[in-house]
Amino acid sequence: MVFVKAVVAAAEQVEAPVLIGASEGERRFFGTPEVAAVVRSLRERGERPIFLNADHTHSLESAVEAAKAGFDAVVIDFSKLPFDENVRRTREVVEAVRAIDGDIIVEGEIGDIGSGSRIHEGAGNEPRHLTTADEARRFVDATGIDVLAPAVGNRHGMVAGMVRGETKKRLDVGRIAEIKEATGVFLTLHGASGTDDEDLRRAIVAGINIVHINTEMRVAWRNALEASLARAPGEVVPYDILSPVVAAVQQIVQSRLRLFGARPPIGTAAAAGDAASDRAPAG
Ligand SMILES: [Zn+2]
Repeated sequence: MVFVKAVVAAAEQVEAPVLIGASEGERRFFGTPEVAAVVRSLRERGERPIFLNADHTHSLESAVEAAKAGFDAVVIDFSKLPFDENVRRTREVVEAVRAIDGDIIVEGEIGDIGSGSRIHEGAGNEPRHLTTADEARRFVDATGIDVLAPAVGNRHGMVAGMVRGETKKRLDVGRIAEIKEATGVFLTLHGASGTDDEDLRRAIVAGINIVHINTEMRVAWRNALEASLARAPGEVVPYDILSPVVAAVQQIVQSRLRLFGARPPIGTAAAAGDAASDRAPAG
């Protein structure tokens, strides 16, 4: 609830469309229909597009549950499986959820971007298999997905040096451009927390449409919560404890949305003549 409030407030503040992502763990905690109900309610009240994404879904059943609950998009993640098995099971999900909602967006994933939006051990620069343009094209053609999540130097979570701001993730921007050219579909950058700002800007120009930021928000949440509790040791009112936490997470979201090019929507003077029409939600 803290994150949902922070993202929606940030979107209003900087006038940007956003995608709220809920992982399987978050859906189990909150309840899949309950997340959908909260976001639906906020969407009806606000002026900005708010999309709801079932992030990193690892089974057909879980994807179907999200589609039935009214999620706008499902990320189906069989990236740990061999390529052919990933193709077969991803296509099965595409067909199943489109039968429930013809407008649903399905995202598939290939390559190794790690797992867990948390603080990881290590230096964060261990070699991993990056997605090639050829396998991206074959995967998109064979599965019928709308959005592809490639591995282009991004990875989930952050290492301690990134939290301290000493090191940054670097992206293979040329590879992003090649994958875009080869597939022509929307591309999502997962695990963008702790990434070099200029790399993020260039990645968006090269073809990234959706950027996932989570760990930076979690770090802000934890730090703000500890500070709030320390400031008032006798406080027991949840909304008093949590209000500054929402504000801290909101600041992170706003700074990222501004970096990604948030501006008034198409049709207003500021957006005329640029590529804003194919800019997908970032969140
Ligand atoms: Zn992800």
